Amino acid sequence: SLPEKAGIIRLLSERTINRIAAGEVIERPASAVKELVENSIDAGATRVDVVLHEGGRSLIDISDNGIGMDAGELALAVERHATSKLKDDDLVHIMSLGFRGEALASIGAVARLTLSSRAQGAAEAWKVLVEGGRKGQVSPAALSAGTRIEVRDLFFATPARLKFLKTDRSEFQAAVDIIKRLAMAHPEVAFSLSDGDRVAFRAPSIGALAGDARLERLGAILGREFQENAIEIDAEREGLRLTGYAGLPTYSRGQATHQYLFVNGRPVKDKLLTGAVRGAYQDYLARDRHPVLALFLDVPTEFVDVNVHPAKAEVRFRDAGLVRGLIVSALRHALADAGHRASTTVAG
Ligand code: ADP
Ligand code: MG
Repeated sequence: SLPEKAGIIRLLSERTINRIAAGEVIERPASAVKELVENSIDAGATRVDVVLHEGGRSLIDISDNGIGMDAGELALAVERHATSKLKDDDLVHIMSLGFRGEALASIGAVARLTLSSRAQGAAEAWKVLVEGGRKGQVSPAALSAGTRIEVRDLFFATPARLKFLKTDRSEFQAAVDIIKRLAMAHPEVAFSLSDGDRVAFRAPSIGALAGDARLERLGAILGREFQENAIEIDAEREGLRLTGYAGLPTYSRGQATHQYLFVNGRPVKDKLLTGAVRGAYQDYLARDRHPVLALFLDVPTEFVDVNVHPAKAEVRFRDAGLVRGLIVSALRHALADAGHRASTTVAG
């Protein structure tokens, strides 16, 4: 027999739509942290401070010194599909980390969100509250500069998702990991992450005076030993540029978790890129050993589609073969050079 019809077709309410969408963008506290810290970076902040309680489950509190928002912008910022970053609905030339206008609306749909901000040069600050998708009035706030976002009781409105969270410790660790990745790509920004009692991660801003700001920052995050055992990568092919630092084969690890890959400043997890790295090192490392590296691929915006996945961790390239070829040859050349230098040093 035919299944019984559940009812007539109807359009879902805005609140339900937002909760469903939130499930894709905000998987766990670390994804909220990623979205919010990316917003701070997009706002030109030079310092971003993050506090997480219970792995971000009970509180995510992020302050920045970026350009801020005025009262009207605050009210719009928490609406779905509201963004200041797509100037003329151009999805090709995306320069910012955000562009979907979904993060704040999604977080507001599943948590209690307080967004406070003072626009640069403005005399007063404003705040707006959103709880489980219900938006309050914009009201005066006390904030000296920039933007502060407090997210309480993440997923209180979607209890099913709450059940999938791991221990506070592993949720916290996931947030540390994403902040480290963003910090690698932005040495000019100072970051701190604390659990309220203890600072778990701190990276001071590295000014233009530093010789190689990126290597300094990588050393601060991956350890001085990495700094001493890494070779610089700088290669170009048909408008694509690969820069960064790759660990010597002698500095390998038992896990492939220490490979940090970026496309146009955006941390990505991409099979094509990790596959190319494996290919480049295969003559240098045993199968169960993996290099430590941080590679930054910069490509013309029309060469890459970042709009593949709501969390923007995946990308598509117009010419995958070109990307793979660039990575493999740049790494192989650098490794061969380093090997040659090492052997001549020993011989001489
Ligand atoms: P998106 O980043 O894709 O634009 P969001 O929902 O993350 O979408 O943010 C919506 C808008 O709110 C942004 O486009 C920006 O104008 C504003 N905004 C969010 N966070 C900040 C911040 N920390 N400082 C200044 N403006 C912000
Ligand atoms: Mg955003």
